[in-house]
Amino acid sequence: MKCIICGKDHNMDTCPVCKFPRLNTMGGVSIEDVIEQNREQIDTFRNRFLDSLSVYIKLFYWEENNEQLVNSKCEYIKIGAGNELLNKEKWLDNLFSRIQETKSIDVSLLIQYEDGEKELSVSIPNIEQVGLQQIGAVIYPDMEIKLMLRNDQISKESEKYLLFQ
Ligand SMILES: [Zn+2]
Repeated sequence: MKCIICGKDHNMDTCPVCKFPRLNTMGGVSIEDVIEQNREQIDTFRNRFLDSLSVYIKLFYWEENNEQLVNSKCEYIKIGAGNELLNKEKWLDNLFSRIQETKSIDVSLLIQYEDGEKELSVSIPNIEQVGLQQIGAVIYPDMEIKLMLRNDQISKESEKYLLFQ
């Protein structure tokens, strides 16, 4: 069953990602009723989890070495916390040069949360025009993330990806 907090599909007593207990029912009470009756606790738990969550993007730096471009270092830079990205598009101020001759760009994300972290690879359609680009992200209430690319003329977006599958 999908965790109602983080969306992780699991069969354990507590969610392996966010530690929310699995909801059980007795006497024919529906799971929707259980959720409704515990709405306040569930919302508090979800807020705390979203506060603990941060999304980072992996950047690669390139330098010229003997007339060849080589990857000199990698760095993770934070796009935002879970609560900043929930239902809100957030864009990094950094400008990136366009990656040429590729139909899509695979972006590596690092998702950090209370007790752990995971990597997620997200594919975004490339922008065809030359120009500097910005990258942004948004998280939906069902705990899916979408990345966007834009330049001063157009924008592209990825599919939605479950943060915790
Ligand atoms: Zn969970």
